[in-house]
Amino acid sequence: KAKHEGKSCYRFFEQGMDDQAQKRRQMELDLKRAIEEGQFELHYQPLFDAQRQKISGFEALIRWNHPDKGTISPINFISLAEETGLIVPIGEWVIKEACRQASQWPDDIRIAINVSPVQFRSNGLRTVLLQALSRYGLPPERLELEITESLLIENVEDTLKVLHSLRVIGVRIALDDFGTGFSSLAYLRSFPFDKIKIDRSFVVDIVQDKSCADIVQAITGLAAALGMETLAEGVEEQEQVNILLQRGCNNIQGYLISRPITAESASAFLEGALPSYREQKTA
Ligand code: C2E
Ligand code: MG
Ligand code: MG
Ligand code: MG
Repeated sequence: KAKHEGKSCYRFFEQGMDDQAQKRRQMELDLKRAIEEGQFELHYQPLFDAQRQKISGFEALIRWNHPDKGTISPINFISLAEETGLIVPIGEWVIKEACRQASQWPDDIRIAINVSPVQFRSNGLRTVLLQALSRYGLPPERLELEITESLLIENVEDTLKVLHSLRVIGVRIALDDFGTGFSSLAYLRSFPFDKIKIDRSFVVDIVQDKSCADIVQAITGLAAALGMETLAEGVEEQEQVNILLQRGCNNIQGYLISRPITAESASAFLEGALPSYREQKTA
């Protein structure tokens, strides 16, 4: 009997695998279609300078408006897009759309976009960036590319070549989610990043756990010495801001300031038409 059960379990498992593979294939087809039919949308989350009490820019975060499944978060489709290479055309759309939108905003507002390692290693990136910047008349220093540490682990030589070629264009480069993965201080020597984005995991417990605050201080100290800005991700409470400022981190991003919002709401946010953190503070 046990044997029989084992076998049926196995069959059930195989069936499960099939379902998964089937779902994946379907999702890949859906993704291709999403590109053709323009089902993606960018939401924008403010980057806030807590020292000057001023918005310095927005990070563009992709959303997929699936015709049947509703809004799909990037955490649920970026990895499949990377595995299938579809991230390259998706990423091109992100660059164009973000540059188009940013060109509508004031000159002192930057736009940050996430660049997948797969897109980073693809050949067309530099050309796509140059075309988008010139098409929308966006000065390159208003565009900030967010890359992750994983790029600095493999093919370091190639990565550095690409980074330097992007630096020549004049776009800014930020190191995203710093402190996760296999962080190494050596990365910070290898390239003059404009900004280090300190991962949310150091912010979450910063009020309760002094070691998080100490780590943040070490990162901001190092960054300052190297001429790099820092920004803390995932800031949800005022008390976290107070500690971040004490520990040398002036730029923040998180639900405290605003969740990612539509382009329309972001424009209204800039004009002060939406209730914002700044107003709460001064009220
Ligand atoms: P990320 O670049 O680190 O973006 C920050 C993520 O944290 C966003 O999730 C944002 O909504 C979320 N977040 C912001 N503030 C808070 C907060 O106060 N608390 C909490 N709990 N979360 C906060 P989202 O939009 O779901 O994006 C997830 C990830 O997907 C991004 O992480 C990025 O790695 C990737 N991604 C998003 N858009 C793109 C894109 O256009 N291209 C590529 N290649 N990746 C993208
Ligand atoms: Mg990011
Ligand atoms: Mg991040
Ligand atoms: Mg993150």
